[in-house]
Amino acid sequence: MPCPYNSHSDFSFQIFSISAFSLMHPSPRNTGWLEVICGPMFSGKTEELIRRLTRAQIAKQKVEIFKPRIDARYATTEIVSHSRLAIPSRLVDNPWEILELAREAEVVGVDEAQFLGLDLVPVVQQLADDGKRVICAGLDTDYRGLPFEPIPQLLCVAEYIDKTLAICMQCGNPAKHTQRLVESTERILVGQYDSYEPRCRKCFVPPQPAPPSAEQLALTINKKR
Ligand SMILES: [Zn+2]
Repeated sequence: MPCPYNSHSDFSFQIFSISAFSLMHPSPRNTGWLEVICGPMFSGKTEELIRRLTRAQIAKQKVEIFKPRIDARYATTEIVSHSRLAIPSRLVDNPWEILELAREAEVVGVDEAQFLGLDLVPVVQQLADDGKRVICAGLDTDYRGLPFEPIPQLLCVAEYIDKTLAICMQCGNPAKHTQRLVESTERILVGQYDSYEPRCRKCFVPPQPAPPSAEQLALTINKKR
């Protein structure tokens, strides 16, 4: 279904047959829906989220914006992009708080959705089922290049999907990976933005897997016996 809120909709139009299109509204009517903006760090996800939410506010729609308490980048009561665009937001400790806080909203924005866990999926489903436009932005892969839940699950239930790409800092190709530049096996290094750079698939170097623990080695040996 073509998204009326971005500039990438032409191709989406083409994949529907004429007969299917004649039955389909070009934009949603009397229903909620979910939009997901995903990609690596430094690809403009938050900027795009702020752009869409600002348009809704200009149209006098009731907008509520949330981000996980874990992300304290630059400010605590705003969503702020790397280019310093900002929009007021509420901090939540878990996604269920959003259901209550967004009760009156027509449009609901969620930034850094990858930090809110799989419970975000039923929450945004409920919001969209209640007729709200929901826009989630987040990292689709972690520093290892592996899917970062709940973004893959959100992509499955979304009406509209946009994947933003950065520019590889090694070679200038489109970059879909977030390369970690420091040694750590923590999945999240909050606030350490100097510790990452965007990389393309050719230049991305996934971390070596950690050596197996003594317990894992013992299990493997026992299985072989
Ligand atoms: Zn590259």
